[in-house]
Amino acid sequence: MSKSQASHKAPSKKKIQAIRGMNDLLPEQSPLWQYFEGKVRDLMARYGYAEIRTPIVEQTALFARSIGEVTDIVEKEMYTFEDRNGDSLTLRPEGTASCVRAAMEHGLLHNQTQRLWYQGPMFRHERPQKGRYRQFHQVGVESFGLEGPDIDAEVILLSARLWRELGLMEHVTLELNSLGSSEARATYRDTLVAYFEQHLDVLDEDSRRRLTSNPLRILDSKNPEMAEMLAGAPRLLDHLDADSREHFEALCALLDAAGIDYVINPRLVRGLDYYGRTVFEWTTTALGSQGTVCAGGRYDGLVEQLGGKPTPAVGFAMGIERLVLLLETLELIPDAARGELDLYVLPMDDAAAGTALQLVERLRGELPELRAQLHCGGGSFKSRIKKADRSGARLALLLGEDELAHGTATLKFLREEREQRSLARDALVDELRELLA
Ligand code: ATP
Ligand code: MG
Repeated sequence: MSKSQASHKAPSKKKIQAIRGMNDLLPEQSPLWQYFEGKVRDLMARYGYAEIRTPIVEQTALFARSIGEVTDIVEKEMYTFEDRNGDSLTLRPEGTASCVRAAMEHGLLHNQTQRLWYQGPMFRHERPQKGRYRQFHQVGVESFGLEGPDIDAEVILLSARLWRELGLMEHVTLELNSLGSSEARATYRDTLVAYFEQHLDVLDEDSRRRLTSNPLRILDSKNPEMAEMLAGAPRLLDHLDADSREHFEALCALLDAAGIDYVINPRLVRGLDYYGRTVFEWTTTALGSQGTVCAGGRYDGLVEQLGGKPTPAVGFAMGIERLVLLLETLELIPDAARGELDLYVLPMDDAAAGTALQLVERLRGELPELRAQLHCGGGSFKSRIKKADRSGARLALLLGEDELAHGTATLKFLREEREQRSLARDALVDELRELLA
């Protein structure tokens, strides 16, 4: 037997760990995620957006053809592999391409408009750091079949309402730009390349590489040594086609009328090739360099590019990790998002266990809002009391010999200086309803 076979056989005792940049969501964090996700779900229904769920894996060509061959995502961030049939598959790095693929495949774009939203994990092989992970989660909306600035305004207002309802509005800034038509972009591209060629000495390596492949992305560079040169670069906003200019001005007017503040950022280009006309980002200064919490824009050419009929479209995606981080950083976590128990139901001895079970079931039936946990697993009197304390519940309901004999229960306040009280079990529902209100 060769050495490698031998080592293969010996079971390794080393603990297997999660993949770098891919996080577990632990019980202590999940209430905040559920709070956020619940807000999103309600909001989408209030705006008439329907949820779509697509597979996490797609054919690699879908992303290469939509996001663009020379973007960061496709060039270096995708999790691409061959499956057992030899097909090239990719873990989705974003949601728009899948959404378009599914909508086309199921005829959702045929002579109709669609307002869709999705949520779920995305995968990009990036350098993990605060606010940047290899598996992260996005909520996105995509609207199809509407070409006017009214729908651009709607998706922006939808996101703005979410910030308002989460208490984030004063901590985020809306940045807005227009990328114009593809013709205007092509002309501008030549102007821009000519400008960069006059400043080759200032361009960093990444930017020189992009000079031929994707020069607009150079505008997005965060390299401080290029800042001055970039500030002097010709602006796409000054080279817009007439229709795009009109669209942009109308959108700005709608946002003004709706009282939404924004900053026009002529260098906002977005990292995905499918965008045209409106692009926007919501940014914050509270998260360091990972400051974009939501980003989107128009992608009128994408459906056709993927083999469908020309269909105007606009959407955005927000990163859930960054938004949850922002809520934590700013301490904007309401009690409802802490996942705490209201009540710990505690049989004081084994004889009371059956009655306690029935009682807590009855309370759950009559008080659907109640979050109650039943003590299971027996134990000494002392350890039972300790478990009640550690449960984090506000109230405990004690059932012992006395209570069984008299048809009562003892209500104990675990986190307030208040006298415990003995209550008839029949009066409990009303009492709890009042206490929890
Ligand atoms: P960034 O400039 O931060 O790399 P991006 O332009 O690549 O973002 P999009 O593809 O537009 O981002 O995705 C929309 C949102 O998804 C981002 O604004 C961000 O909140 C979130 N996001 C993107 N990549 C990651 C990641 N690797 N980890 C966590 N969140 C991410
Ligand atoms: Mg990125």
